[in-house]
Amino acid sequence: MIQLQKPKFVYMGGKLRPWDEAMLHIGCEAVTRGLNVFEGVKGYWQPDGRFGIVRLHQHYERLCRSARLLHIPFDRTYDEYMRAIFDLIGTLLEPERDMWARTTLFVTEGYWGENTVADLVVTAYHQNKQIPQPINLGVSTWQRSADVSLPARIKTSTNYQVGRLARIEGRVQGCQDMVLLNQWGSVAEATGSCVLIVREGVVYTPSATEGALESITLDIVEALAHSMEIKFVRRPIDRTELLVADEIAICGTLAEITLVKSIEGLSLAKEAPILRALQDRYFQAVRGIHPHPFVELECLGKGV
Ligand code: PMP
Repeated sequence: MIQLQKPKFVYMGGKLRPWDEAMLHIGCEAVTRGLNVFEGVKGYWQPDGRFGIVRLHQHYERLCRSARLLHIPFDRTYDEYMRAIFDLIGTLLEPERDMWARTTLFVTEGYWGENTVADLVVTAYHQNKQIPQPINLGVSTWQRSADVSLPARIKTSTNYQVGRLARIEGRVQGCQDMVLLNQWGSVAEATGSCVLIVREGVVYTPSATEGALESITLDIVEALAHSMEIKFVRRPIDRTELLVADEIAICGTLAEITLVKSIEGLSLAKEAPILRALQDRYFQAVRGIHPHPFVELECLGKGV
């Protein structure tokens, strides 16, 4: 069995320190984007005074799949997972502000995949109740890793190294987010969300086998589109289709549905009737104003 040595001292922060004191905080990027699998979950205040987290069970299931694919042990039940989140959110909640929680399984022990031990860490952040503003989207020269290198299907923070580079690239161009192309040069996804385009009244998005995460929000958008009789198709999307699309948006738990106002510097029409309608319907559903059967909410609190 291979084991990591634990010498008496390390050099850190400009001086020698005992091995056990050489700690990095869970909030620093070295740890955040290191070896772990995670889920970002979003909760919204409901009209009855409860606080509802969107499709939490699907997030739990994806966390289990990601952990399995990286050989990270995870044996918490769904109820335990939910209780951990509600414990923290229940303590931090503020009236009139929604929350986004990051549930991360950090690998805390083990070496080269032997004797792996992981700890579930939950952090939660306040979010203003706002409809996201339209963004400028670019197309990155950095590429989504292929399924045989760092599979996009695994929601592991190590995957986000590429997204980090793409965002640095985008910032110089005035873009708030960037599209990553896959190994075939087609659209995979954005750095932390999926891509939706509209051409002649039909919503298109790449399927997960194009190098996108198996998105929970995308499934919601598909269900909403279905009930609004909007055609929704998953298929490969060429880069040039982005440039001639009638409407574009990115979607994800945190991005929600964010409209795109320009793509690679080319302006899109101000009106985005189809994606705007989906965005309105999305917020009505997650905020419980106009519930939708597919938008299941795990609720905290008794309500009124
Ligand atoms: N792709 C990436 C890279 C993401 O980080 C996210 C956000 N989790 C998504 C897509 C959208 O996934 P979901 O709708 O499940 O949040």
